[in-house]
Formats: sequence, C-alpha cells, structure tokens
Amino acid sequence: MHRKRLMRSVTVRRLTLIGLATAVALVGAGGAAGMRDQSAGDVSSETLTRIHDSAHQVVTTVPVGTTVHDFVVVFGSLSGPVPTGNVDIDWFLNGTCEGPPAVNSGSIGPLDAAGTYDAVGFAFTVLSPGQRAFKAHYEGDATYAPSDGPCESLTVEGGLTSQTSTEIHNAAHQAVTVVEVGQTVHDFVTVTGQSGNPTPTGNVHLEWYDDANCLGNVLATSGSIGPLDASGQFDATGFAFPVLSAGHRAFKAHYEGDGTYAPSDGPCEPLTIVDANIQITPNGVDRVGDSHTFTAHVNVNDGNGFGNAPDGTATTFAVYSLPRRVTPPNPPTPQRAAGS
Ligand SMILES: [Zn+2]
Ligand SMILES: [Zn+2]
Repeated sequence: MHRKRLMRSVTVRRLTLIGLATAVALVGAGGAAGMRDQSAGDVSSETLTRIHDSAHQVVTTVPVGTTVHDFVVVFGSLSGPVPTGNVDIDWFLNGTCEGPPAVNSGSIGPLDAAGTYDAVGFAFTVLSPGQRAFKAHYEGDATYAPSDGPCESLTVEGGLTSQTSTEIHNAAHQAVTVVEVGQTVHDFVTVTGQSGNPTPTGNVHLEWYDDANCLGNVLATSGSIGPLDASGQFDATGFAFPVLSAGHRAFKAHYEGDGTYAPSDGPCEPLTIVDANIQITPNGVDRVGDSHTFTAHVNVNDGNGFGNAPDGTATTFAVYSLPRRVTPPNPPTPQRAAGS
C-alpha cells in the first residue's frame, strides 16, 4: 500500500511537469486507477468517510448479505472554499487496508456543495464473514491538495442463525425461577449453532431488570463478557445479584456473534422472589393446665406484595423444654392458619 501511495504522489508531481498524455501512461503503469488533478492546489484538505448500508445508515458491523458503500466528506480550510472535484475509493478484503485493494473505484464524483460524495455506484454485497475496509482518496482541486481518508474497517458477521437460551442459577448453580429473599442469582447462557457447523464462540452481554418482562428498568448491564466455552456456554458468575426484596426481576442475554454466527437475543427470563412471615398472638402467661388459644397469621409475598397465606396453609406448634413431670393434657396438634 505504501508503495502504491508513493507511486501516486510521484505521478501527481510529474503531471504538472510533463503533461496529461504522459501522465495517463504513468498512472496506468503505476496501477493506480484514480487520476490526480494536474493543477491541484496546496492548501491541505482532510478526507473522512463513513460506511453506509443501502439505507444510508452508518454501519461498522453488518450481517452477511448486506450491501455497503462509502460516504466521503472532504474538509478544506475554514476560510477557504468547500473542496470540489473527485475522489477514488479502495475496497479491501481485510480490515487494515494492508496490501493492494481488491477493487479501486477509479475517479468518481464530483463532491457536492457540502464537499461530500455518497459513492452508491461503488457498492459491495458482503457474502462471507470477516473484515473489509474502504479507504477514500480525495484527488484535490485548484485550491486543495489531495488527501487520503483513514482506513475504515467493516466487520461482517456470520450469516448462520444462532439461538441463545438462558437459565437463572442460584449460588449452588441450580436452575431456579423462584427464590427466597436473600439468595444470590446469576445467569447461565447457552448459545446453539447449526448442526454440521462449529459451536458458537465469542462473548455475550447481559441485562438485569427490575421487572418480569424486561420492559422495566435495567438495574445493571454486564458489558461484553465471556467467552463461551467449547460447549457454547457461559456461566456468568461475575454478574451475580443478591435479591433483597420480594418482587420480580429478569435477566436477558445477548449473544454477540462470531465469524460463523449472527448475534441472537435470549428470551426475557423472569425470576420471582418470594418472602413470608408469621405473627402469633396473643402473648400471655397461663397456668399449666389452663388453655391458651394462639392465632398464627401467616403473610406471604409471592412477588406481588404481602398478603394472607392461602386458607388451609398448615402451621405447626411444638412445645419444647416441657418439664418432665408435666404431661400436657392436650398434645399440640397442627392448626390451620388464620389466613382467610
Ligand atoms: Zn449512502
Ligand atoms: Zn451457574
């Protein structure tokens, strides 16, 4: 690449000296398809680019099958005119613009009144995963010198669909959908690929929500974590949360894709956190042999707030440390909770 750029600059310099006819021959010999304006000025210009998809959205990562083109902006000096003239663009089958480009657009343009050119006529449909890059070269005009844009890389993700599934683990790595207040949970992610193809690799990212539908607030995001193991699984023990109040939470996992597989989102995975308490009334002191009626009131929180336990919830009273000489006239028996 450096060699090619060098030849171009030599060509440009000679253009002013020896005229157009010879210059065309030199350009051909140098392998550079773009041709410089032989009267290019010497005010410096700056070339920037964005990669567009066919809807002219700026993209840096696309799935296989996407058609992309380059959008070029050339900046001149603040006090000077807007740059005019043409650009030429290289298309590389790598992400670093190393080596010769796979294709060069030739001289295309012109820049519009804003100094931009949307190179829809130099578009490529990416058919395999990997890296690509555009690099644009402004050819200069009467005011401005030529300038090269930076190497602009594009990541093409695999076209095979992947499937992301998750289960919520407690601290003992048991799959849970309901836990009691005080437990700590994390997400366990499995990404499945296509049979006959490699196991998915790469990273995932996770979200932790304050509701059961992944529509509420995101309490935390993991960032990119991983990698998936040889089975396409990742146990996200580093993204674990103690659940300190009854209610609903949810994890949602996103597989980030690799060279074979496209990204995929797991389903929203709800977790219900439950709690319960019991109130026994009344307190009192009775003589042995007197009867004392207790009422046990059990409150449960199924994740939707505290309420009475269902009618029929069993509670058990047991008597401990009873003096040996005393035989209770009525041994304790399980009571129905006053939950209604
Ligand atoms: Zn565009
Ligand atoms: Zn686990």
